Amino acid sequence: MSAANHYDVIIIGTGAGGGTLAYALAPTGKRILLLERGDYVPREKDNWESRAVNVEGKYQTKEMWRDKDGKPLHPHTNYWVGGNTKFYGAALFRLRREDFGEIKHHGGVSPAWPIRYEDLEPYYTRAEQLYHVHGERGVDPTDPPASAPYPHPPVSHEPRIQQLSDDFARHGLRPFHVPLGIMLDEKNPLKSACIRCNTCDGFPCLVYAKADAQVVCVDPALKHSNVTLITGAQVRTLETSPSGREVTKVIVERNGAREAYSGNIVVVSCGAINSAALLLRSANDKQTRGLANSSDVVGRHYMGHVNSVLMAISKCPNPTVFQKTLGVNDFYLGSKEWDFPMGHISFVGKLDGVTLSAGAPAIAPGFTLDLMANHSLDFWLTSEDLPDPNNRVTLDRDGNIALAYTPNNEEGHKRLIKKLENLMQQQTKCRVHGHECHVGLFSRNLFVGQRIPLAGVAHQNGTIRFGHDPKTSALDVHCKAHDQDNLYVVDGSFFPSSSAVNPALTIVANALRVAEHLKERLR
Ligand SMILES: Cc1cc2nc3c(=O)[nH]c(=O)nc-3n(C[C@H](O)[C@H](O)[C@H](O)COP(=O)(O)OP(=O)(O)OC[C@H]3O[C@@H](n4cnc5c(N)ncnc54)[C@H](O)[C@@H]3O)c2cc1C
Ligand code: SF4
Repeated sequence: MSAANHYDVIIIGTGAGGGTLAYALAPTGKRILLLERGDYVPREKDNWESRAVNVEGKYQTKEMWRDKDGKPLHPHTNYWVGGNTKFYGAALFRLRREDFGEIKHHGGVSPAWPIRYEDLEPYYTRAEQLYHVHGERGVDPTDPPASAPYPHPPVSHEPRIQQLSDDFARHGLRPFHVPLGIMLDEKNPLKSACIRCNTCDGFPCLVYAKADAQVVCVDPALKHSNVTLITGAQVRTLETSPSGREVTKVIVERNGAREAYSGNIVVVSCGAINSAALLLRSANDKQTRGLANSSDVVGRHYMGHVNSVLMAISKCPNPTVFQKTLGVNDFYLGSKEWDFPMGHISFVGKLDGVTLSAGAPAIAPGFTLDLMANHSLDFWLTSEDLPDPNNRVTLDRDGNIALAYTPNNEEGHKRLIKKLENLMQQQTKCRVHGHECHVGLFSRNLFVGQRIPLAGVAHQNGTIRFGHDPKTSALDVHCKAHDQDNLYVVDGSFFPSSSAVNPALTIVANALRVAEHLKERLR
């Protein structure tokens, strides 16, 4: 290995985990190499076109995986600098304090984390600052304590969403403003980087005003001369020393050729599914189950949330442009009538007729797709799925990804949908129709042509869990492999339980936490 190909730290993947880690380590002056299989998302008008993004899937990988029956599965995931944060909705939640402890669910037990909320809290605060989070504390009843206010005020509701928020409040709920990582300055619209458009959730931001890992982390890290990024570099395997205790080579496929790099520290940040696949693919004579896998947990306990997109159709139109501002967590931990957690209610970006044509919902009587989209409130419901060892990533005979997933803990989710249905029927604030304004709830079919919900892959986590016990976890509390001395995993893989809020802020905060540990180690 030439000295030129040797680095202090190699980070594989540039998403929420890897990109943030690179940003945090850049000022150390250490030689850092970022290996990213994708390229930069091209800046073009199609960035904001529903047809290109949602119907043609222009920016999604064309890679095919297999499901548990061996049938082809086209994953809705994105390989670019910045990873899936280029396309995320930037709803940046902290896990609830309770999520770090053991929680009893209707479908089983959500296990405790090996760290407490208080251990991650300072990093959540830094993560919110780094990712420009706009929000307000103390309204969401499940909000955990925070050591600082949000760095920016909440994103305001448009009138139809404000009306709904008022309705929810009248029924005794405590609706809140979703914390959002967008660079919107509502006081200074002419100077605001974000123009508050209708193509944010699921789309790359054409004007670089979404706080994604490329814009806020990778590009600033690259201003440091000690940081190098190689794109189009797909890491195929990791090789180890004869003892197996050290990763000695990172084998990359680039432009059809094989390249090798080495690092004192190697960090895998490929996203929960690809990181597990890489460790499994790196099996050798001594470590026949793959790297970091003496516990046999790598690839297991895959979680992706129980999700639904539900369109509530009203007689009145919903002219909202940026819809993802309202959240309800009153049923997160249960309700008076039911002791078990149900989950989280918020919104997806405003759906349009073009997007609906890609996964047509049941059509409301008397409506067309366009009319439905013009009259819908488009809810996003998330409930926790539990870590089942049989929900897992494996490799098929050709080394391609196979993903087995059987949904669990669905009762809470069904009850959450019922709660929303009841709430929608009780709306009163429409001056024209009162509670008659609500026509019904329609499920947007996310399953067309796919065996698992697309959002199931979007929120992937849990496949390389961290913990104290090397028999039941792959990583220690610093996210270092129990089995290797210089191998870390810093992305959504480390979650022992999935919670029911969006994962990205926790991935970012954890990357900042691991960075502190690595800085000490690199001294
Ligand atoms: C449409 C959509 C909306 C979302 N909305 C939200 C939201 O509102 N809030 C939220 O919290 N989360 C949201 N998410 C989820 C969020 O984007 C992810 O949780 C987060 O990006 C995961 O971070 P990660 O570091 O684990 O992986 P990623 O961000 O996926 O990064 C992994 C990186 O590794 C690279 N890579 C993979 N394999 C290799 C390899 N072998 N060699 C080299 N590079 C490799 C990939 O190209 C990618 O850049 C959304 C996701 C999607 C798709
Ligand atoms: S301009 Fe604002 S709302 Fe539009 S995509 Fe960018 S960050 Fe999102």
